[in-house]
Amino acid sequence: MIDLSEPVIGIYFGVVGAILGAVLGSFLNCFAWRIAHDEKITKGRSHCPHCGHVLQPWELIPVVSWIIQGGKCRSCKTKISPRYLIAELFLAGMFVWTIFTDGITIRCLRDLIFLCVLFTISLVDLEIYIIPNPSHFVSLGAFALALPFIDGGWWPNLRDGLIGAALLGGGVLLISLVMNKIMKKATLGGGDVKLLFVCGMYLGPMKGLFGLVTACIIGIAFNYIGNAVGRKKNEEDPAYIPFGPAISMGMYVMLLIGEPLVNMYMSLYK
Ligand SMILES: [Zn+2]
Repeated sequence: MIDLSEPVIGIYFGVVGAILGAVLGSFLNCFAWRIAHDEKITKGRSHCPHCGHVLQPWELIPVVSWIIQGGKCRSCKTKISPRYLIAELFLAGMFVWTIFTDGITIRCLRDLIFLCVLFTISLVDLEIYIIPNPSHFVSLGAFALALPFIDGGWWPNLRDGLIGAALLGGGVLLISLVMNKIMKKATLGGGDVKLLFVCGMYLGPMKGLFGLVTACIIGIAFNYIGNAVGRKKNEEDPAYIPFGPAISMGMYVMLLIGEPLVNMYMSLYK
């Protein structure tokens, strides 16, 4: 077991995690953009969406390039959205947090893969209001492969996961079907339900419920902020909120810090 509380080792893995997170943040941001804009994912090099200027390797260094170029394309001087900088810094921070929470374990690797999936689908959902289905296979695949290596044994973890998935995915599906009847319109996207199912697998029932509450709070906050900054609405349904990013964030935070919170809550009833 690698001891991250040793200063040298801790700093080393912190720096490696931050760099890895920033690089993946940059890559996945571009990946999400291409999914959302229906561009081929494998073909063609990264380019400026305005003038088509093909980015040179030194223009692709996460965080650093954006700051050096003052947030502008080197060729046409069009402003590059701070989305890139924010996304890279955000994922770098989340990587470090995950590494220090999980330690250098298979669980950590699994959670980082899950984090990358959630990060990508959140960006896609924000732009085109769709959570791509293949993402769930990646998450569930990582979950299954890691099962034998997770503390507590594979069966208790799988059992908790299945209960969590049934509770979150099934429960929310049921509520949304009832709401659909009452409000006579789709209240929650099918993509959100599938995402909740996958999150339920990772978190199990108790952390999952905590995650759901957190996701709702974040969703309401996002909606207020979105309205305040004049976010463009979904043309088909102006009242529609992309809930994917809120679910992703709430669930992932609870995956990391949920255990002590659940224990604290349960101790109230002892
Ligand atoms: Zn340009």
